[in-house]
Amino acid sequence: MRKPPTNRQRHEVFKFYDKGCVVCGPKSENELDMAHVDDNPENTFFENLLLLCKSCNGSIEVSKHNGKPALPPRLHPSSLADRAWHCYGNGDYASSYGCYRLAAHLSWTRQADADFALNCISACIAALRPIVHERLFRSVMILSQELIASSQEPVDPFWKAECLSQIGLVLSDYKQWQSAAVFQKAAVELYNRTSAVGPYKRNIELKKAAALRRYAFVCQNTQVRGQLDELIELFRKRRELGSEATTRHVKAMFEFELAGSPSLARAELEQALTMESKIGNHWTVGEIHLLLGRICLVMGEKRKAKQHFERFLHIFSAFRLVPLPSRLPGCSEPAVELQRMGHRYEPFPQRRAFPLSEEELRTLLDLLKRS
Ligand SMILES: [Zn+2]
Repeated sequence: MRKPPTNRQRHEVFKFYDKGCVVCGPKSENELDMAHVDDNPENTFFENLLLLCKSCNGSIEVSKHNGKPALPPRLHPSSLADRAWHCYGNGDYASSYGCYRLAAHLSWTRQADADFALNCISACIAALRPIVHERLFRSVMILSQELIASSQEPVDPFWKAECLSQIGLVLSDYKQWQSAAVFQKAAVELYNRTSAVGPYKRNIELKKAAALRRYAFVCQNTQVRGQLDELIELFRKRRELGSEATTRHVKAMFEFELAGSPSLARAELEQALTMESKIGNHWTVGEIHLLLGRICLVMGEKRKAKQHFERFLHIFSAFRLVPLPSRLPGCSEPAVELQRMGHRYEPFPQRRAFPLSEEELRTLLDLLKRS
């Protein structure tokens, strides 16, 4: 039986998606529908509701029946993923998540494409990281498990590796360094078992490189750390400047927090910022300014530090982003440093607890690790 959303659910969904169809953008309130992502109108809970315009919702609704008439081009899973990517670059992380979520569902239910669906689920996790939504994190992680368990065809280890790596990143956001390392290590191993041939060769090489960088970050493994320069070179060669900037950011953290070399760290970050227009991720740019602020402070350049902190604050409050935790136990959280500098700002949204229990996490790890 159809279960209409309560006023509270309505308010929550409208607020999260900022009064826009996740596919078409801003609309007036009476043009919008609360769509049930899983096609089941009984499952009325926040994680299963998306904001869509009547036209998008109607097209999806009729496509439930034998896929006829076919989905209009803008609702094809690949177009949705393109739009999600675009939204991510514009800092609209909620719509980016929404489009990836819809793409995952449609590629799974209308095209039985488990590989593409898992790819989109991993991207959902990535889109949620800057804005942190625990219930949505939980629902997509569980969804990845259901998808792999119920798929008729074995899911490509490449996409499992990507999912492991994204979950590993969320674990490090919650300071669960040990589990994060286990997930990143498993991701690297799975990537290594993926045959780098054919048209995917380049893609696999880059994803592997990103997984290695993440592993280096959580383990603070000096051996992997030494490879960061090679990784930077690889990204540069492939013109993947966004990933090059992120890798420089990680390298700078090593230099600053572990090796105690603020000037080297600063050089890496300033280099990363020269690619700002190509990073396509406001969150990363903000984090780079935050670290530069800390470094300038250590180097005694108060005025410069203030400018970087201001830039960081501007980006983070404009998009309602959540800063990453400090890597070292002795390092202050950004909020403490900002107060010390006399900055006035709205408090950042907070992370509470990692949304899966240890047992759930173990089950998920076992399932994803199997190639
Ligand atoms: Zn629409």
